[in-house]
Amino acid sequence: MTSPASPASSGREGRPRRRKPPRPVEVVSVSRIAPRLVSVWVGGDALEGFQLDAPTSHIKVYLPVPGQDAPVLPVDTPDGPAWPDGDAPRPAVRTYTPRRFDPASRTLEVQFLLHGAGPASEWAERAGVGDRLAVAGPGGRFMMDSSVEHWWIAGDESAIPAVGTLLEALPDTASAEVHLEVAGADDEIEFSSPAKTAITWHYRRAPDAWGAELDEAARSAAIADGGMVWVACEAAAMRAIRRYLLAGRRVPASSLVTRGYWRAGDANYPDHDYGEDDLPGR
Ligand SMILES: Cc1cc2nc3c(=O)[nH]c(=O)nc-3n(C[C@H](O)[C@H](O)[C@H](O)COP(=O)(O)OP(=O)(O)OC[C@H]3O[C@@H](n4cnc5c(N)ncnc54)[C@H](O)[C@@H]3O)c2cc1C
Repeated sequence: MTSPASPASSGREGRPRRRKPPRPVEVVSVSRIAPRLVSVWVGGDALEGFQLDAPTSHIKVYLPVPGQDAPVLPVDTPDGPAWPDGDAPRPAVRTYTPRRFDPASRTLEVQFLLHGAGPASEWAERAGVGDRLAVAGPGGRFMMDSSVEHWWIAGDESAIPAVGTLLEALPDTASAEVHLEVAGADDEIEFSSPAKTAITWHYRRAPDAWGAELDEAARSAAIADGGMVWVACEAAAMRAIRRYLLAGRRVPASSLVTRGYWRAGDANYPDHDYGEDDLPGR
């Protein structure tokens, strides 16, 4: 006996989309990119066929709970993935950016911010080679429009991996003004991009003033006609920025990609908060 692992969802043309069960993987290397940003490469035969089609996509990471060597995973059934019956505690499942994938070695990089208390942050803090976990996806609806010439990009530490994928995917005809809000100078990392980039690091003005610096940057942003805006950070901060750009600056909704990556005080924040419920003009 099993129980469904996730509600059925609709694919294109209304057909139910067949979710695949998570792929079991093992940690193959761990390194610190910055004191609070851990790069974890995972690998395994189960990554055969994994593919990254668009920057800023997301995966689900399944982590064992304390006391387990490997997460309990949904199994494949004719109706889609389902949890096996039994008393074993289910894994902590969290949303992360697939930072890089190497099909030849079937290895995938995920970069975890060590933000403090939370199963994923705590797992990453002590991650070691051989640790077992699982990944599912990728998902996400962002499609890169290579004809866009100007990008205004803003994010906090949790969005650093996604910003990295976006900058690497921009064409050399594009320019990007990038604003990153972090706790302090230790959090700064290098990015590479074919595009012309101008990166500004903002240090959070108070430990819980999430997104205040990004909000201020948005208020003085020069957003070119036909340009695109991409913002990912704490959910309430994202909404304030989105609201301002739509109402205060008349940026068309079609030029805005905004995502709440986490919300202060909420564990396991959903992966599909685009802030579009907030205002008319979505
Ligand atoms: C599409 C998408 C892509 C993402 N990609 C990445 C990524 O590549 N790397 C990454 O590190 N994160 C990423 N995140 C954010 C990540 O999913 C959350 O930070 C998640 O809450 C971490 O899980 P946790 O178990 O550590 O904490 P949870 O159990 O979810 O939360 C515990 C507590 O920590 C707080 N918290 C959560 N995140 C933060 C934070 N960033 N800063 C301060 N407090 C926080 C919560 O509000 C809660 O009070 C992404 C989120 C989305 C939606």
